Amino acid sequence: MSEVHRHLDRQPALLGGDSAFPTPIYVTRALAPDAEIFGQRTAGIFRSRWFTNDGPTVQELEELLAIRLGVSFCAAFASGTVALQTALRALDLSGEVITTPFTFPATVHAITWAGLSPVFCDVDPETYNVDVRRVEELISPRTSAILPVHVFGNPCDVLALEKLARSYGLKIVYDAAHAFGSSYLERSIGSWGDLTVFSFHATKIFHTAEGGAAVGQDPRLCERLASLRNFGIVNEEEVRGIGTNGKMSELHAAVGLAVLERSAEEVETRQRLAAYYDERLSAVEGVVLQRFPHEAIRNGYNFTIEIDARRFGLCRDEVHIALRAENIITRKYFSPLCSENESYRMLPSADPKKLPNAHRLASRILSLPLYGDLDFADIDRIVDALVALRTHAGKISEAIACRQ
Ligand SMILES: *Cc1c(COP(=O)(O)O)cnc(C)c1O
Repeated sequence: MSEVHRHLDRQPALLGGDSAFPTPIYVTRALAPDAEIFGQRTAGIFRSRWFTNDGPTVQELEELLAIRLGVSFCAAFASGTVALQTALRALDLSGEVITTPFTFPATVHAITWAGLSPVFCDVDPETYNVDVRRVEELISPRTSAILPVHVFGNPCDVLALEKLARSYGLKIVYDAAHAFGSSYLERSIGSWGDLTVFSFHATKIFHTAEGGAAVGQDPRLCERLASLRNFGIVNEEEVRGIGTNGKMSELHAAVGLAVLERSAEEVETRQRLAAYYDERLSAVEGVVLQRFPHEAIRNGYNFTIEIDARRFGLCRDEVHIALRAENIITRKYFSPLCSENESYRMLPSADPKKLPNAHRLASRILSLPLYGDLDFADIDRIVDALVALRTHAGKISEAIACRQ
C-alpha cells in the first residue's frame, strides 16, 4: 500500500515537481581502475620504455582474460571495431555476412571495412537477437559467415546458430561487445563460434579506456590475428596478408589490469541491480522487459525496456523527454537501426518491410541507467519516476506538446 502511495504522490518534474535526482545520471558510468595497480604498472612501463608492440603488460592481460573467458587464446586490439575487422579478415571470408540491424554501427561498418557485404536479418521481438529461422532464409551462395550480436549481454541462440553454420559451411563471429561476464549453458560467452569479439571501450563492463579483443580456441587463428594486427608482419623476413595497425598499447593494458581487479564485483553488483529492476518493473503496465533464456546468465551490461504506448499512456519519445526533466538521462539503443544508415539503406535486406520486429523495437526501446555505482534506492527513484509518468500521462503529454 505504501508503495502505491509513494507513486501517486510523486509529482513529475515536467509538471513542476522536484527532479528525481539533483544532478543528471546517465545510462552508464565507466568502472574506475584501481589507482595503485595502475600506478605500479605505468611506472614499470616508463622504466622499461616498452610502450607497445606485444609488450609484457599486454601479454599478461591476454593471459588473464583467456582464463576469465574460458578460451584458449585472447588477442588484444586497439578497439573492438578493429578486432572485428581483423577477425573477419583472419577467417578469409568473401561475399556476404549475415548480421543484425539492431546493433551499434561498428558491427556493420566492420563487415564493410573488411571488404564484405552486410545482409540484415530481422530480430526476435523478445530477446532482441537475430532470429535464427530468418538467418536460414537469407543464406545465399555468396554467404560466407554470420555475425550475430549478443545484444545487451543476452546470449544468442548459439546452439541453433552453430547447427546452421555447420550444415551450410559458414563461419560464425560473435560480436560480444556487450557480453563480458555473460554465459550460456554454463559456458562463457566467449567460447562459442569461430571467433568472439569484445569491446573494451570505457562504456563497456570491462574496459581498457579504448580497446578490444578477439578470442577463440584455434591457435592458428591466434597467430593470424597477431600478425594481421601488426601490419601482417609474420617475422623479420616475411609480411603476409593485408594487415593493419590494431595493436593495444602497454598503457591501455595497464588500465585493463587495474580494471580487471574490480570487474567481477562490478558484474555481480550489476546483476543484482538488474534483478531488482526486473522485479519492480514487471509490475508496471505498459513496460515490456527483454527476455533472457533460462540457459543464459546475464551480465547486467545495461537495462533496456520497451514502452508499449497504448498501455503506458505515453510513447517512448515522451518518456525519454519526461525522464530527462527528472535528471534521468536515458538512451534509445538502438535507434536508428543500422539498416537506416544512408550507406546501407539501399541494400535489399535493409527494406523495412523485411525487418518488422527490428523497426518495432527501435520505436519502443529505452535504455535506463545501470552501473555498479547505483544502489537499490536509485533504482527505486528511477522506477518511481517512471510510474509517476504513467499516472500523469495525459498532463505529461500536453506539457511536452506545448514545449514543442
Ligand atoms: C561498443 C561496440 C562495438 C565497438 O567497440 P569499440 O571498442 O568502441 O570499437 C561493437 N559492437 C557493439 C555492439 C558495441 O556496442
